[in-house]
Amino acid sequence: MADSRYRGLRVLVAGAGVSGRSAAEALLAAGAEVTVTDGSADRLAALASLESQGAQLVPGLSTPPEDTDLVVTSPGWRPDAPLPAAAAAGGIEVIGEVELAWWLDQERPEGPATWLAVTGTNGKTTTVSMLESILRAAGADVVACGNVGLPVVDAVRAGHRVLAVELSSFQLHWQRALRPKAGAVLNLADDHLDWHGSLESYGEAKAKVFAGNDVAVFNADDEWSTRLVEAAGDRRVSFTLGVPQAGQLGVDEDRLVDRAFGEDVELALLSEVRPAGPHNVANALAAAALARAHGVEPAAVAAGLRDFEPGAHRSVLIAEADDVSYVDDSKATNPHAADAALRAHDSVVWIAGGLLKGADVDELVRANAGRLATAVLIGRDRGEFSAALGRHAPDVPVHEVASGDDAGMLEAVRLAHDSARPGSVVLLAPAAASMDMFTDYAHRGRAFADAVRDVLSETPAAT
Ligand code: ADP
Repeated sequence: MADSRYRGLRVLVAGAGVSGRSAAEALLAAGAEVTVTDGSADRLAALASLESQGAQLVPGLSTPPEDTDLVVTSPGWRPDAPLPAAAAAGGIEVIGEVELAWWLDQERPEGPATWLAVTGTNGKTTTVSMLESILRAAGADVVACGNVGLPVVDAVRAGHRVLAVELSSFQLHWQRALRPKAGAVLNLADDHLDWHGSLESYGEAKAKVFAGNDVAVFNADDEWSTRLVEAAGDRRVSFTLGVPQAGQLGVDEDRLVDRAFGEDVELALLSEVRPAGPHNVANALAAAALARAHGVEPAAVAAGLRDFEPGAHRSVLIAEADDVSYVDDSKATNPHAADAALRAHDSVVWIAGGLLKGADVDELVRANAGRLATAVLIGRDRGEFSAALGRHAPDVPVHEVASGDDAGMLEAVRLAHDSARPGSVVLLAPAAASMDMFTDYAHRGRAFADAVRDVLSETPAAT
């Protein structure tokens, strides 16, 4: 990698998480003088090995060291946090790790990679994973990276030619020069408003994914996605769960069809999209649109969707017993995601609750009242769920569980099991974040799966 631009550059990496480590390593390798800071001394200590490469680790900085040329900030830091605010006030450029990856990628001797980028409130990880699978089926040297887990800097340094990049609104906020070849906004609903302040500024961050695209992909069924694409260039392609018109990808009877990159191209069978459910069909259409923007043939779209391995805690069937299925959608951490998870079923024993982060559940409950058989509420904000159920679904029996840990999940699953009737689904789709009871959504999903196994093993099988 050419290093002249970075040699001697004084860079402060703010945040010692996964992307901070990757940014620091790449900058050291390019000859920069790197300082890393973090509010937590423990997190910083995990990067001790970078000291031998010349990095300085300084806990708790709230202003950049003198003569800092550039700050690379972790996406978790709000722009008005003391350190980024002080840097901006001092005229120092502040970027994120993804923007750094873009800069480094532009200098690759073999030329930059193709970036295909996805953002939205929900469905990002599923869509970039489907996109990765489709591109692999097409024979591309591709990797899914960004918010999905692998830092984009690492994907660039590994030399991949195509990047299926998942971008959160936080990452997009710190974007400057980044110009994906094709970008998609899947949907937009209120989430993370505590960080961004308003839906408008959240949307503004998301719309940056369209900057400089050859092809901008939007969701014709989503009001915000349709509104945000107005900022994009001329070549726009949309997807819909309805029958597609010219310029759209969509569903015609039992098939996914492309009427944007061809006149009437069959892409795949609806039944090849897994896990089943309208939201995953939307994700598959978005992934197909991005792949087609990169020139992928229809047969590779079908093959990629068939090969796709659904992610953990996203509509995963845990068990079936006595004609009741137990489904883990712990990743439904906001009402919009829970809405998608609920709509995939007809009769649901719904386990919900946790930290609402300022979101409102009235609309979610109202829209799904007809499919709720019972609600079992957990977590700190369960009172808000029970109030909404009282208003919009007064006939639905509600159980509340007070204990806030794995034992609480066991009690919730036991209550759900006891009230489930044949043909129904016990669905964990909390519509809320998990940190009041669990380390994260994965821990919550594991607690659910463990509880399902425990409760089913206590219950004699029906004869
Ligand atoms: P993200 O990476 O944006 O958090 P995921 O692909 O991990 O999205 O899916 C998270 C959850 O969001 C899923 O478990 C499901 O409940 C819901 N979901 C997935 N795709 C969509 C979609 N297109 N629209 C609405 N909700 C969705």
